[in-house]
Amino acid sequence: RTVYVNGQFVPEGEAKVSVFDRGFLFADGVYEVTSVLGGKLIDFAGHAARLRRSLGELEMRMPVEEDELLDIHRELVRINEIDEGMVYLQVTRGAAADRDFAYPGEEVEPTLVLFTQSKPGLADSPAARAGIKVISIPDARWGRRDIKTVQLLYPSMGKMMAKAAGADDAWMVEDGAVTEGTSNNAYIVKDGTIVTRQLGTEILHGITRAAVLRFAREAQMKVEERAFTIEEAQAADEAFITSASTFVLPVVEIDGTAIGAGAPGPVAKRLREIYLEESRKAGI
Ligand code: PMP
Repeated sequence: RTVYVNGQFVPEGEAKVSVFDRGFLFADGVYEVTSVLGGKLIDFAGHAARLRRSLGELEMRMPVEEDELLDIHRELVRINEIDEGMVYLQVTRGAAADRDFAYPGEEVEPTLVLFTQSKPGLADSPAARAGIKVISIPDARWGRRDIKTVQLLYPSMGKMMAKAAGADDAWMVEDGAVTEGTSNNAYIVKDGTIVTRQLGTEILHGITRAAVLRFAREAQMKVEERAFTIEEAQAADEAFITSASTFVLPVVEIDGTAIGAGAPGPVAKRLREIYLEESRKAGI
């Protein structure tokens, strides 16, 4: 595989980042994952806009202009012959001369790394047909979840807790309400209304979330952006998650309780179809 590091396309075995890189030492960095369908990037503009925002919140600048970023994405997709999969991008504050909590000065260049992941069959996954099981866990992350940082240890622990419980993922709960999944936004459907938590610093502002809510409203579906509890979710007709790499994925069980008929519901299925169709059309 060919990867991109600071201006160069190199074989993955030759890619190097300093041991003093602040991404490595302080998780001082942000990332984006853009999916690829039919060799095209899905919602690149949305991911680039969120990257700019994440960087801004951390007083970092875009390491390259957006058009160059697009060229790098496209070049990696081309070189690595990605038909279905993802492009992962990470920007860190770079390698300062020594380990110091304070941010280094402007003279330290940010580190920009991108690589591809080939996932044949991504759009036609068995999980989408069967639905997934989730458990609930406390949300023990930091308070700025709207910034897409690389501090992913707690979400990683959450996935392991889910695995140990025989489930696929975990929904995190704070002050009695669901925030989001470990790497996705969470939704329920009751009497035809789609409910998902409102935007704020408590959740990541999903690019897929924005697209799916737009498509839902265009299709005259009712949408409520508000917090909901695990009990409300267990009593819902349907549940699902969204993310760039899973699109729309039905949830059929929460903490051992079957949701609705215990099978993927019509709203989640329809939203998945619309999302995939529209995304393929708009891919660049
Ligand atoms: N929430 C969290 C915590 C995530 O990690 C992700 C995926 N990175 C999402 C939501 C979904 O965001 P997107 O639709 O932009 O992939």
